[in-house]
Amino acid sequence: MASQSQIAAPPWLQVWLEAGREGQVFTYGNPQQIPVQPGDLVQVRLRGRRHSGLVVEALEDLPGELGARTLQPIESLLQAAAVTTRWQALIAQVAVHCHASRFLTLKSALPSAWLGQRAQRPAKAARPQWCIEGPLPGAESTRLTAAQGALLSSLEAAGGALPLVQLCGQGGHSRAVLAALERRALVRRVPLAAARPAVDSARRLNPEQSLACKAVLTAEPGSTLLLWGVTGAGKTEVYLQAAAAVLARGQSVLLLTPEIGLIPQLLDRARSRFADAVLEYHSGMADGERVASWRKALDPSQPRLVVGTRSAVFLPLPRLGLIVLDEEHDSSYKQESPMPCYHARDVAQMRAQQDGAVLLLGTATPSLETWQRCEIGEIALLKLPSRIGGRPLPPVRLVDMRQELAQGHRRLISRPLLDRLQQVGERREQAVVLVPRRGYRSFLSCRSCGEAVLCPHCDVALTVHRSKAGNQWLRCHWCDHRQNVSDRCSHCGSSAFKPFGAGTQRVVEQLAEDLPELRLLRFDRDSTRGRDGHRQLLQRFAAGEADVLVGTQMLAKGMDLPRVTLAAVLAADGLLHRPDLRASEQALQLMLQLAGRAGRAELPGEVLVQTYLPEHPVIAHLVSGDYGAFLAEELELRRRAALVPFARAALLRFAGPSASATATAAAAVASRLEPQVLEAGWCLIGPAPAPVARVAGRSRWQLLLHGPAGGAIPLPAEAELRGNLPAGVSLAIDPDPLAL
Ligand code: ADP
Ligand code: ZN
Ligand code: ZN
Repeated sequence: MASQSQIAAPPWLQVWLEAGREGQVFTYGNPQQIPVQPGDLVQVRLRGRRHSGLVVEALEDLPGELGARTLQPIESLLQAAAVTTRWQALIAQVAVHCHASRFLTLKSALPSAWLGQRAQRPAKAARPQWCIEGPLPGAESTRLTAAQGALLSSLEAAGGALPLVQLCGQGGHSRAVLAALERRALVRRVPLAAARPAVDSARRLNPEQSLACKAVLTAEPGSTLLLWGVTGAGKTEVYLQAAAAVLARGQSVLLLTPEIGLIPQLLDRARSRFADAVLEYHSGMADGERVASWRKALDPSQPRLVVGTRSAVFLPLPRLGLIVLDEEHDSSYKQESPMPCYHARDVAQMRAQQDGAVLLLGTATPSLETWQRCEIGEIALLKLPSRIGGRPLPPVRLVDMRQELAQGHRRLISRPLLDRLQQVGERREQAVVLVPRRGYRSFLSCRSCGEAVLCPHCDVALTVHRSKAGNQWLRCHWCDHRQNVSDRCSHCGSSAFKPFGAGTQRVVEQLAEDLPELRLLRFDRDSTRGRDGHRQLLQRFAAGEADVLVGTQMLAKGMDLPRVTLAAVLAADGLLHRPDLRASEQALQLMLQLAGRAGRAELPGEVLVQTYLPEHPVIAHLVSGDYGAFLAEELELRRRAALVPFARAALLRFAGPSASATATAAAAVASRLEPQVLEAGWCLIGPAPAPVARVAGRSRWQLLLHGPAGGAIPLPAEAELRGNLPAGVSLAIDPDPLAL
């Protein structure tokens, strides 16, 4: 069989389709001599139905068993040169790793506009917000009115720029005065998102950074390194300087970050150094923008630096030299659904090995998996032991909430925290306060029967939300169902409810009561809607519009603000008590990340943690700041209990219209798998209802496979098991699940 990619219009083509047996390749003819090549997306027919597919091979001769006359023709070319040949190999490998179909993997890796996927709704564009910059240099500033002068001095005092809302809102300056100054070119208005792009240039690396950078640039192709450095140790500087060297060699770089909210500041830094070589790729972009980035990535003539989230790991860069996966411990790198349930770190490693690139993992708090691989020498360790400029890490102070209670103080915010927040306000510094949950109240419970008010479609309690005007309603954080608070209890019909637990909205309300002089901003998924909401809110905080930022986990990630001197955790216990293998690890990572927000510049920082469990080992590690000690202890615990990473697991998630149908289907799959699983020395646990047994009206069951580390998971592809399922029941296979 001759296989040639360069025939102008090859007569036979092999195509991957969403049909047939898993792994099946379909052969088509090309009588119209359409100039189709491997890597193109085409349209074909199969059993009378139209399908889109990927051309994986061009054939000059037909394999003997195929009769030329029976072959159907390629109908049309959809996208020329959508991917590279090497990319196809990556997809095949990821599919096998995830027990997902190759086509599904292909589809989820391509820009969603292709292969007839349901176009994703682009994030709604936010109302344009303006930033006023001034006084601008060089402009004539004589003969100013008093009001004009006052406006200019407000700008000057704020460092040369203020958001319009703040200048004319709280600032009290009139819009007419602003307009007059704009006409005289003394100030100018720029979109808030584009205001004052960070001017970032390469720093002289300190000795540890230099060593790390050199190690990355001389590492064996295909190898993995871990850069472990506390927050503010200068990891990003190492990434960017290593990237510069790789680009100079004519190779491309992937720089991955777990959170879409971290993209803007990384992009700013990257663009001010590498200008047009920088590409952006993440789910916050419109389809067309993503396709444009994909196309540019394919162009072999220009090496690129891609800044993106987990899906960017699939960008088909032809000459990849380096992949940086920042915050490698972050669970956002794992795709939980839909299939393929891949971890970007695993895909990055496959890519690095296929492309002969180097994979650099960076974090202040390595995951146990990565740390264990360091210990056995699979991953080389690079350390940045201290913060840039020798700045100390902020000390952690505990507030024992039992004592607060014993002394009759029942407020959400303890007195020590109130004192510190007040100081922060007086000194014109800033604070961030972490609250585990968004909304107003965690849930309502019925005063007569005590049952919580549940979502009618899910087995979870509804969260109370509240509008600015004080209206309350209930919302499901799983399926987005909304309903009125005044509805009757579905158990006993009573209409009197008692609220429990506090969300970000409630904390803001209480802070405003306790410390009315503080200016507060809320930072959670509700307050940062829209494409640029995240960045805009942070920019308002950075511009000094508020003293305190109250937010969810989003707060802990990446923010670098010099005036933040206090980081507070309102209810540490809520983070510790999740029934999950990784609860301790994730709680400590989150709190250390949050601590890393305080005291990053000249002003010293402090961390305050409210807890009812000051003796908890995680809290002890937080106070000592010794993450290494935690790693050693936790790894020993897991070793003794033979848990991940000293074992492997896979989770089969079933969902169906009723509990009985779903349970029956899960049991059937379990008994079909049992011989194979036991033979491989693995065990089956379940099937059992999922921790949240019903979501959006679908019942959920799960089956856990547990076995020795290092071996393959004894499971066929999902497509092979699907045949055993009744209509309406779905199955997802999650290899190495993060939540157990
Ligand atoms: P990390 O990614 O580890 O949190 P960054 O690379 O963002 O740290 O560095 C923290 C701060 O220190 C940034 O403001 C950065 O510009 C600065 N910085 C990094 N390396 C150096 C250096 N070698 N000399 C001076 N400043 C540096
Ligand atoms: Zn009731
Ligand atoms: Zn719901």
